[in-house]
Amino acid sequence: MATKIPAAQQRLFHRIFVCKNCGSKIRADPKKIIEGKVKCRKCKKRAFRTIKKK
Ligand SMILES: [Zn+2]
Repeated sequence: MATKIPAAQQRLFHRIFVCKNCGSKIRADPKKIIEGKVKCRKCKKRAFRTIKKK
């Protein structure tokens, strides 16, 4: 059987985004990402993707 990821951990994972420009990781509310309220600390861009995508 495959190991299941606990829901809480999965949720935590979902809240981490990676800057498309410089690749720095930022933990933020997905809602805020969608609304464009989160800026990258390094390059100040608003282009983020989820950490799951490679
Ligand atoms: Zn950046």
